[in-house]
Amino acid sequence: MNNQTLVKRDLAVLWHPCSQMKDHEQLPLIPIKSGRGVWLEDFDGNRYLDAISSWWVNLFGHANPLINQAVKAQLDTLEHVILGGFTHQAAVELAEKLVEITPPGLQKCFYADNGSSAIEIALKMSFHYWRNLGQSQKAKFITLENSYHGETLGALAVGNVALYKDTYGPLLMDVISVASPDCYNREAGESWRDYSIRRFADMEQTLARYADTVCAVIVEPLVQCAGGMRMYDPVYLTLLREACDKYRVHLIADEIAVGFGRTGTLFACEQATISPDFMCLSKGLTGGYLPLSAVLTTDTVYQAFYDDYQNLTAFLHSHSYTGNALGCRAALATIGLFQSQDVLVNNRRLALAMGKAAERFKQHPHVAEVRQTGMILAIELVKNRQTREAYPWQQRRGLKVYRYALSKGVLLRPLGNVIYFMPPYVISESEIELMAEVAWHGIQLATQD
Ligand SMILES: *Cc1c(COP(=O)(O)O)cnc(C)c1O
Repeated sequence: MNNQTLVKRDLAVLWHPCSQMKDHEQLPLIPIKSGRGVWLEDFDGNRYLDAISSWWVNLFGHANPLINQAVKAQLDTLEHVILGGFTHQAAVELAEKLVEITPPGLQKCFYADNGSSAIEIALKMSFHYWRNLGQSQKAKFITLENSYHGETLGALAVGNVALYKDTYGPLLMDVISVASPDCYNREAGESWRDYSIRRFADMEQTLARYADTVCAVIVEPLVQCAGGMRMYDPVYLTLLREACDKYRVHLIADEIAVGFGRTGTLFACEQATISPDFMCLSKGLTGGYLPLSAVLTTDTVYQAFYDDYQNLTAFLHSHSYTGNALGCRAALATIGLFQSQDVLVNNRRLALAMGKAAERFKQHPHVAEVRQTGMILAIELVKNRQTREAYPWQQRRGLKVYRYALSKGVLLRPLGNVIYFMPPYVISESEIELMAEVAWHGIQLATQD
């Protein structure tokens, strides 16, 4: 087997996610044979540093020996069992663990098998909670501009990235969207904190006006990842928690991308010392091994569904692979790694190294901003640094960086004109330098005309 033969077979039968397949007439698909740590290897023996954690899922490297071991042991015992009416050890242990490590007040865990499904569950549960309380007029959601919550219709509706959403507009429920605290747009000299506070006014007014018909506000805490790694200050979450309490509206924290240490704390909500009413987890939950997601919620929410069957208040939602045993084991091993090693402390060192390696980008004539929250660092390319005029999207500058980086053995997958690093936590300082060096030359090449 070599790259070429597998690519040929692939293109005959496979339709890839988030891709214009015609691009692959020019842009070679990369068939991966194996992975180890931050490195992926193709069938021709080329190696690629996975600087984006394979779409933000991988935390402790590919083929991590400890996670491998846990999944293998589970495989020989029980691969999967129906979770309706049945249970198993891994599902129980993981739910206990998640209740223990997530912010206080989150006491019940509902499983699904991917991030979008977790969002659908949180939306349905919130609506259904109010309905069970006799308040079915509460049927709307408030979302932030530039947010992303997944691709299924409900998740797409509460998201706000035009590229993914606009085409399907006629299929989507109406939501109320408010100004994003995204600090890229702050005034010169204004702090993240001041800007985030200022932007909260729109949320406050919207809640004041619509609270009676709103079930929940949904946000990505601290970083709007798919929206271009746009970042904001924790104070926004503090204000939001207070306002949601005041107006009797749920707060849904979508920590699918930012959870499990990406922002510097285990969960991003911790930086605002808040507890949401619903927390959605997926991606890093299994260390990037298996599709699994969880929605954590409060006992108050749970109790509103708990009643005699005849009263028809139950949450009748399921997915076939809910609480899959292999996924739960991978998740337990992943959380075990956080607890047996000083991961968050070590990440502080790595985050500093990333910041240092990206220092030179700040002066680049086509870089408007270098921003960082913990283990996520983003570089915003623009046509004009002074006016921040963006490059026309048709020019696909980010794609040029992607292609160049691949030729140098680094997997970067820019979001439009935003180049970012979101590596697995097993990356070394010299690998961080390599990643930044390749990105630098890629950006030089992509911005030279
Ligand atoms: C990836 C992502 C989702 C969707 O998760 P899938 O598993 O891809 O369906 C939802 N919210 C956020 C913030 C994400 O980054």
